[in-house]
Amino acid sequence: MKRFLRLVAFAFVFACTDAPAQVTAIKAGKLVVPETGATLTNQIILVEGARIKAVGADVRIPAGATVIDLSRQTVLPGLFDCHTHMAFLINGRRSRERGSLFFYDLTHTNAERAIHGVINSRDMLDSGFTTIRDIGNDANYVATDLRRAIDQGLIPGPTIVNAGRIIAPFGGQYQLQPERRHLGEPEYFYADTRDEMRKAIRENVHFGARVIKIVVDDQPYIYSVEDIKYMVAEAASAGVKLAAHAVTEQGARNAAEAGVASIEHGLEMSDEALALAKKNNVVLVSTDFNEKAWLAYDMPPEVAKRFYERGVDRLRRAHKIGVTLAFGSDLIFYAPDETRGTWTMSLVDVFVKAGIPPGDILRALILNAARLLGVERTRGAISAGQFADIIATPENPLDNISTLKQVNFVMKNGKVFKGAK
Ligand SMILES: [Zn+2]
Repeated sequence: MKRFLRLVAFAFVFACTDAPAQVTAIKAGKLVVPETGATLTNQIILVEGARIKAVGADVRIPAGATVIDLSRQTVLPGLFDCHTHMAFLINGRRSRERGSLFFYDLTHTNAERAIHGVINSRDMLDSGFTTIRDIGNDANYVATDLRRAIDQGLIPGPTIVNAGRIIAPFGGQYQLQPERRHLGEPEYFYADTRDEMRKAIRENVHFGARVIKIVVDDQPYIYSVEDIKYMVAEAASAGVKLAAHAVTEQGARNAAEAGVASIEHGLEMSDEALALAKKNNVVLVSTDFNEKAWLAYDMPPEVAKRFYERGVDRLRRAHKIGVTLAFGSDLIFYAPDETRGTWTMSLVDVFVKAGIPPGDILRALILNAARLLGVERTRGAISAGQFADIIATPENPLDNISTLKQVNFVMKNGKVFKGAK
């Protein structure tokens, strides 16, 4: 019997080694290296299974390899969005839902929101986003399930680093009433004491969170520097980083002082708060909307314009001061003329408006984001050993960043999702 089992095991190993992983050779006319801002020409990228095996001008294409000809295009690593809400799709055409996240929570089942998540994930990948950080408001860990379904190959979508339930002072981001005090759950963990903070972090990690998201300042009472430091340490001891939603100056200062991994939004950050973030290596995920996105919140046009301009100004100042920027969209709305992916990509225009050069925009979309998500050893570059997350555009984005809106080839984990088959 033992001998039989050994034979079976041998046959299994033999069968595995007998079927080598499929090798694909991509001919890249131009290859952008976000880290250096260089453009290499006539490169061959060899992909074996899910990973990149070799890159270079004189790499030999092995016999039997599938050849993908992108010699007339520009090839670059897949893009990142560090602030997504896949299980959110507010239909702005139904006016009762406009601008009301709370109402959406109460009137949509988690199952429906999971379906939204499937659609949004596919659309993000289609636009060239191969990795995303889903930052909460995810209908009771829908993003954990999305991540698993995508990783198992059941549905198409980016690699997901998800936050689970958002941790916040009592009330979270909603205004409750005393007789319905639990209506904000399960979108939020109300954590006011240290014990509640620790429990919320542990529960989140147990249910699949790969990053912790806190809301610092959406109530009159906000998390202190000490509160945030405590949660940063607790998150670190559970092996994850901490992202802090902060919209006020004081909230952003507390988060920057406490040394969070990233500040989300930071809408009102002064130059001093931005300098503090830079000093403490805090990444800014500014999530700046264009006017179209602000209008989706049902704002009057003049208010939408003011909010847009305020974001552009803060982004310009953050870049000038030298804060590390990572791209994040924060879109939650439906638009009849956009997918979640195309709308997300249109927000690159805000970076252009803020005068940020294409090389730095690409770093915010790729390298800085990969480092923030802690995946830089395996994603965010086209080099040997990395997962093959590769996209292509008609033009070189370093010359014309808008070409990112025309991503026409997407490979994730070595599998072609869009473009050449
Ligand atoms: Zn958000």
